[in-house]
Amino acid sequence: MSGGVSSRQRAAWLRGAAWFIIVATFSVRHRTKRKPTCSIDRDLDCLMLFDAEPSLMDLKPTPHEQRFRDELRRWLATNLPPRFSGSTREAEAEGAYTDYLLVWQRRLFDGGWAGIAWPKEYGGRGASFMEQAIFQEELAAADAPEILGVIGISLVGPTIIAAGTERQKSRYLAKMLSGEEIWCQGFSEPNAGSDLASLGTRAVRDGDHFVVNGQKIWTSFAHLAHRCLLLTRTESAAPKHKGITCLLVDMHSPGIEVRPLRMMSGDSAFNEVFFTDVRVSVDEVLGEINGGWPVAITALANERANLGAGVYAMFKRSLDALIAHAKSPRAGRPPAASDPLVRQKLAQLYLELEIFRLNTNRALTKLMKTGMPGPEGSIQKLFWSEYNQRLTQAAMEILGPLAQLDEFDGGRWAYHYLRSRGNTIEAGTSEVQRNIIAQRVLGLPRSY
Ligand SMILES: Cc1cc2nc3c(=O)[nH]c(=O)nc-3n(C[C@H](O)[C@H](O)[C@H](O)COP(=O)(O)OP(=O)(O)OC[C@H]3O[C@@H](n4cnc5c(N)ncnc54)[C@H](O)[C@@H]3O)c2cc1C
Repeated sequence: MSGGVSSRQRAAWLRGAAWFIIVATFSVRHRTKRKPTCSIDRDLDCLMLFDAEPSLMDLKPTPHEQRFRDELRRWLATNLPPRFSGSTREAEAEGAYTDYLLVWQRRLFDGGWAGIAWPKEYGGRGASFMEQAIFQEELAAADAPEILGVIGISLVGPTIIAAGTERQKSRYLAKMLSGEEIWCQGFSEPNAGSDLASLGTRAVRDGDHFVVNGQKIWTSFAHLAHRCLLLTRTESAAPKHKGITCLLVDMHSPGIEVRPLRMMSGDSAFNEVFFTDVRVSVDEVLGEINGGWPVAITALANERANLGAGVYAMFKRSLDALIAHAKSPRAGRPPAASDPLVRQKLAQLYLELEIFRLNTNRALTKLMKTGMPGPEGSIQKLFWSEYNQRLTQAAMEILGPLAQLDEFDGGRWAYHYLRSRGNTIEAGTSEVQRNIIAQRVLGLPRSY
């Protein structure tokens, strides 16, 4: 499969494109439940609870939002770079593709289009969540390149804004937006994934530093990252949620070793990271010492909400392309869509995508009311990750062997199919998302 495919697909996942589609007027009501308890699961702990008040939201764009969209379209018309040419997988090794993406991120930053809803004093635009949604939608519609610093922008940055000191905000946020510093998320370990609070990477106090030893795994972008949002255990005698501290770590510190892992799609987008006597100043504690769990929770809620960014537009493009293929006769044979089962399948995929679109509006409603992602993020994450597997499976069935050829649509279908397997694992597995929905949304008892 060509490297260009890899690039486009990752771009689709990570570019932070159309998160929410703005419908004319959409009202949503949801049932509510307050539940102040803490649990053990990685994600059960990380959710804001539903409001006591039902939501009713008009998502029709205001004249101001329409002007924002128009201005952005004009800017994109003159600033969107040409598509990266050549094999990105090889070029990536040489850094050319990374450089291309960094130039794009810098251009967005310089143009005032980075950190749309972030405060202006930290390099953001100071705009609303609705404008952020419009921004993501327009970038997806324009098929803009991915944003390399996606981990920083979608989960580390919002967490620093929520929990960081003034020094940390001034030091890190603007560089994160401009792409000067790429971040990774050092949470998962070989024995701590869904049950994240079981993490064993230790940070031991030594004067005004912590000394970190341990291993992280599945760390996306660690091979490119300048900094890491790292979860460590600082108090082993405490209950496991209490003895955790979150550190902002320089990835170029002595004692850090990054080993890339290859995915079945052929990418090496994530890594193992080993820490041996790595010294981190106490100034780099994010939140409280031994109070890292709520910080992790904030990061996870943002991760879940933001990783789905752009997927609606991506799915819509893929489904439209698949429908077009299904309508075309090929090699003298009738079109695939003449098969009633194929038509049923495509209609079902279309229907599910509409449901996803409406639910993203519900999540936007909550975000605009509270400023924080809510449990709707779990519904979205569960839905889009499983939807993508159904969509890509259908594509493989409808297109048959063609889907496996690099020469056909650049080999994107087989790549999408393989990469979609990880979707139901990253940012919390489907089982964990269902646990969250059962407990936090439906108020059902814990699973254990
Ligand atoms: C593409 C990709 C990128 C990633 N990037 C990062 C990253 O940048 N940083 C990072 O820290 N991590 C990252 N991860 C790791 C990811 O967060 C973990 O893989 C995930 O949380 C699951 O943990 P685990 O792999 O240890 O599986 P486990 O937690 O061991 O789960 C194994 C199985 O048991 C099920 N299970 C576990 N607990 C329960 C329960 N309570 N109820 C029901 N079923 C349960 C799970 O659903 C799963 O099917 C990435 C993963 C992928 C696939």
